[in-house]
Amino acid sequence: MSAASVAVDDSLSGLGHRLRTALTHIIGYSGLLLEHEEADAETVVQLQGVHDRAAIILSKIEHWLSPQLEGAPAQRISTLRDEIAEPLDVIISTVGALAQRLKGAELLDVLRIARACTELLTFVQHEGTMPGQVRPAPLPTIPESVKGRIISAPARLLVIDDNPANRDMLNRQLVHSGHKAVCVESGAEGLRLLQDERFDLVLLDVMMPGVSGVDVLQQIRNMPLLAGVPVIMISALDEVESAARCIELGAEDYLVKPFDPVLLNARLHSALERKRLQEEQRERTRQLERATQDLKRANEDLQAFASAASHDLQEPLRTVSTTLELFSLQWGTELSEEQREMFRLAVDGAGRMSQLISDLLAYSMAGGGEEELEPVACETALLEAVNNLRQSIRESGARITHAELPEVLAKPARLVQLFQNLVGNAIKYRGEARPDIHVGAWREGSEWILSVRDNGIGIDEKYQRRIFQPFGRLHGSNLPGTGLGLAICERIVRKAGGRLWVESKPGSGSTFYFTARCAVSHAEASA
Ligand code: ADP
Repeated sequence: MSAASVAVDDSLSGLGHRLRTALTHIIGYSGLLLEHEEADAETVVQLQGVHDRAAIILSKIEHWLSPQLEGAPAQRISTLRDEIAEPLDVIISTVGALAQRLKGAELLDVLRIARACTELLTFVQHEGTMPGQVRPAPLPTIPESVKGRIISAPARLLVIDDNPANRDMLNRQLVHSGHKAVCVESGAEGLRLLQDERFDLVLLDVMMPGVSGVDVLQQIRNMPLLAGVPVIMISALDEVESAARCIELGAEDYLVKPFDPVLLNARLHSALERKRLQEEQRERTRQLERATQDLKRANEDLQAFASAASHDLQEPLRTVSTTLELFSLQWGTELSEEQREMFRLAVDGAGRMSQLISDLLAYSMAGGGEEELEPVACETALLEAVNNLRQSIRESGARITHAELPEVLAKPARLVQLFQNLVGNAIKYRGEARPDIHVGAWREGSEWILSVRDNGIGIDEKYQRRIFQPFGRLHGSNLPGTGLGLAICERIVRKAGGRLWVESKPGSGSTFYFTARCAVSHAEASA
């Protein structure tokens, strides 16, 4: 591009900017005056005439100053002059008539329109403006059906714009929509205010002397405290590229001058609504985090309480049991049959209570915090469990077999307890036949499925979920138990990342399954 054409570009760009600013004021102020509810019919018709003609002039400016248009720039400007002369004339005479009739604040607005008309008139009457380049962009419009339906909750907004008339118009449009606006004329002032006060949204002019709108936007986006505050850029038509860049830099939206009050409202509404939804979402996440923390703490407290209580309860219970034993040794032979029966009930009760306390302790321990898992050989764990159950195995004549068992990721003591509870139940809930128990294992992906199968009394399908809940006992008090064994198993399996379930039919035995993670990876295993 030559030096001469740069000068032409600058000159035409400057002309376009000047004309559009003037039209922004005519359209903006006539729009504001039209929103006055007390305006009489004649005033409304006249204002509408001003507003519509200003829009016609704007479209002619966009057309004739468009760089895409063929033809000599000087010729285009001359045609533009001719074409806007007539509507401008009508505007000026209507404004004169309005100035005769309106008073107070409304008269002031009419005078503002008149001042903007002078700017256009100077152009129409002045010869010799240089042609140049103006970037076109369509004026955004919103459908009639949307108008009047946009209602935002009152918000506090900051307007940063160096043009006093723009500030005034924006302020009044915002107040008219029920918002509270603070208007400042420079980016520096806006940034200062943003550090001290809270705003729901910022309306920021793209082109400002000193700190530009883009710089202000970048600084706002670097302030963590302002992360949730939406920024809407205000741009002239030939600045939409900068406005688009601002969106990339984190602006929420942009508005093109002259402001259509309905469009302004719609954009504000949508930005404020998005901000509200984001805040709601953040609040919900915070609540969820708080609730999770509370739950975690409550769980830890409960576990600490359960384990302390279990320890403390065992102590006096041991005293009761020991005293009963001593008593039995010393005076057992002197007791009547009835007294001995009462004595036996007391000893049984103490034993059951002791079992309940240690199960409660195991249940609370199994639900504790994170545990380091390590590779454990299932066979070793099973053998230890069988050893612990040797008395009941001997008494029942149970036969226990197992397949080749893998190494899984677990806590060794917990895996022993898991086998002990499952094999113990398989013996306890036996049928007429001698207990025949088999422990199997097969691999599925990165998991092992282990099974404990028995030939016992079986479980009706409708109870198969209940038995995993604490105290979910199905069988009567003739069989010892606290109803916590399977609940403990379920916690142990779940904490190691697995699942526990049962398949059973009454009279046909039961198979309990649980999954456990492989101690070695798939690749290692097949290598
Ligand atoms: P407990 O054995 O102390 O009653 P558990 O939690 O271990 O408690 O078991 C809950 C209930 O599940 C038992 O009361 C019993 O009714 C049923 N159950 C558990 N294992 C078996 C099994 N292998 N066969 C039949 N019923 C079983």
